[in-house]
Amino acid sequence: MTSTPPPPPLSEPDPSTFTCPGSLVGPCSGCQRRTHKYGNGGLPLCQWCMRPARESWGSTVRFTSTRP
Ligand SMILES: [Zn+2]
Repeated sequence: MTSTPPPPPLSEPDPSTFTCPGSLVGPCSGCQRRTHKYGNGGLPLCQWCMRPARESWGSTVRFTSTRP
């Protein structure tokens, strides 16, 4: 019931790339998938690498929102 769908092949970019300029797209630090990496709202990891990372970090996540 809590199973998560497997991530698509690495040739598939992270959905976040669809809504950000191509200049802000870069390879995921974990799997090299194309993801929204740079600029405001960018993350070094794609969402599939980010999910287990967030869980392992628990409540001590160091990501601070840089919203103005
Ligand atoms: Zn990744």
